[in-house]
Amino acid sequence: MTWLDSIADKALARELPTRDEALAVLASGDDELMDVVAAAFRVRRRFFGRRVKLNYLVNIKSGLCPEDCFYCSQRVGSAADVLKYTWLKTDEVIASAEAGVAGGARRVCLVASGRGPTDKDIDRVSGAIEAFKERNPDVEVCACLGLLSDGQAERLAAAGTTAYNHNLNTSGGHYADICTTHEFADRVSTVESAKSAGLSPCSGLIAGMGETDEDLVDVAFALRAMDPDSVPVNFLIPFDGTPLAGRWELTPQRCLRILAMVRFVCPDAEVRLAGGREIHLRTLQPLALHVVNSIFLGDYLTSEGQPGAADLAMIADAGFTVEGAEPAEGTTPTEGTAQAEGSAQAEGTAPTEGTAPTEGPAGPGLVHVRRRGAGTALPANT
Ligand code: SF4
Repeated sequence: MTWLDSIADKALARELPTRDEALAVLASGDDELMDVVAAAFRVRRRFFGRRVKLNYLVNIKSGLCPEDCFYCSQRVGSAADVLKYTWLKTDEVIASAEAGVAGGARRVCLVASGRGPTDKDIDRVSGAIEAFKERNPDVEVCACLGLLSDGQAERLAAAGTTAYNHNLNTSGGHYADICTTHEFADRVSTVESAKSAGLSPCSGLIAGMGETDEDLVDVAFALRAMDPDSVPVNFLIPFDGTPLAGRWELTPQRCLRILAMVRFVCPDAEVRLAGGREIHLRTLQPLALHVVNSIFLGDYLTSEGQPGAADLAMIADAGFTVEGAEPAEGTTPTEGTAQAEGSAQAEGTAPTEGTAPTEGPAGPGLVHVRRRGAGTALPANT
């Protein structure tokens, strides 16, 4: 039995790996990369088969945040030229979220910039969620509104919210290097309040912010300790105009190792490939589907992803099926998926020209600020 068999067996039994095992995944060499992915796939397949869940992000309030998270294009003092708007109206929230649903999303994530919501904000978002759920009772809604005060999580739950997202982002030890206006403990406490209110806890990380392997293992273990249902793994999108601009420290291979380590530490959680996948994994994106079981469809909060049709094509080409849209018996995964055909050249995808999958080495020019979808008059990328 190899060390990878051993770590996968533990994960299949929902046993935590040792820190050394988790570190070994991150330190593994390129010769072992496919073995790492194969071991993680054993775990992914056990808990999620070959299904890929699609989530869809709606930025319901963008920019002008008073917090200073160094990685964020919406932070105080950000010179990133991102869309800035205050709370979308309920009908705008519903229209954007339903565009994601039409594209195949099973969960919509309503995200607002800011330290945390006021009680009036909770009323506003709860109203939008109630209206959306009335029209889309089977679609999950995740709210991501920042740090919560007492009673707010309960009110969101009463409105029909499925989940609450609040990422830990990095280790407790590294936290002061990425934010000075709130602390790691504040984030843990918000995830705990969401959980206590009966909301499905969603919390993850961002890699590529100067952290060490030990930091990555620390944050993965901290996440496991909170027992989240979903763990989004982001790779830093280094926006110009933010303190982390120009930081390109990830390789596609390292991204795969990070995803695999998270899969081994949180084996039965929905591990969600999140922001930065196109620009950091580049042509290795489809391999990541063997490790994660969920991605975001289309665009991110303030940057554009690859065309939604290309996401669907990638899933079909890699032999996976979109959750909720499994092919009828007797068809192959790529049959009957019209979206997949010719998707890389789908019409109306000009804003994503020059995105990572067709470009060479990582670097400036790969980050495209979102100019369509929520908060604009242009159709969403789904
Ligand atoms: S609190 Fe949220 S929106 Fe504000 S700077 Fe931090 S990550 Fe960005």
